[in-house]
Amino acid sequence: MPDELLERLRRFREDAFPRYRVQFQALVDQGQHPTTLFIGCSDSRLVPYLLTGTGPGDLFMVRNVGALVPPCCGTRDGGHHGTSAAIEFAVLQLRVKRIIVCGHTHCGAIRALYEDISPEAVNLGTWLDLARDATLPVQPSPEALRRTEQRSIALQLERLMDYPMVRRRVDAGELTLHGWHYVIEAGEVNVFDVRTGSFVPASRLEESRADADADASDTIARRC
Ligand SMILES: [Zn+2]
Repeated sequence: MPDELLERLRRFREDAFPRYRVQFQALVDQGQHPTTLFIGCSDSRLVPYLLTGTGPGDLFMVRNVGALVPPCCGTRDGGHHGTSAAIEFAVLQLRVKRIIVCGHTHCGAIRALYEDISPEAVNLGTWLDLARDATLPVQPSPEALRRTEQRSIALQLERLMDYPMVRRRVDAGELTLHGWHYVIEAGEVNVFDVRTGSFVPASRLEESRADADADASDTIARRC
């Protein structure tokens, strides 16, 4: 039986790729110039390109369990810190204009914070510590889980500001930070508003969104 994914690869090359050929060639000739670093959860239900209507060359992306941001300064321990490397590359090399941290509803990583993890998953346990401060001292009800997901996003944004190159460019007004909480079942993204500490549906954001974004990064900078 042919592998279904291999069959899809063949179909991509024959059916879809011709429509993108010119675009991909331009991206090869001129290089990539994405303006957004997207840090998203690995969850298969989060589909950033579908969500944002973007395509090739638009998003520089790093995804991990929980959409978590590791500390910037623990990187000289000989470990291999992929998310930190992506942040450094995106900010220093690509000079992205915005960083989005995107979590979502029904996040298994956030739920795992309230459950026992297999002792065999030594890396997962340590990794989830990056969201531990977002947990609430309550039973993990759907509401508590949603709040924890959102609190984690805010926590990761604050940790981003510990990266010197992030802080420097935010302070210079060259970079803005954004927290998104994607509600899978509603197709809605709730956007973190640091002025109120709450999440506001993107569909209800005011027109002066750019100003609000700038304010948000300023506020995070002041809080850190
Ligand atoms: Zn998740």
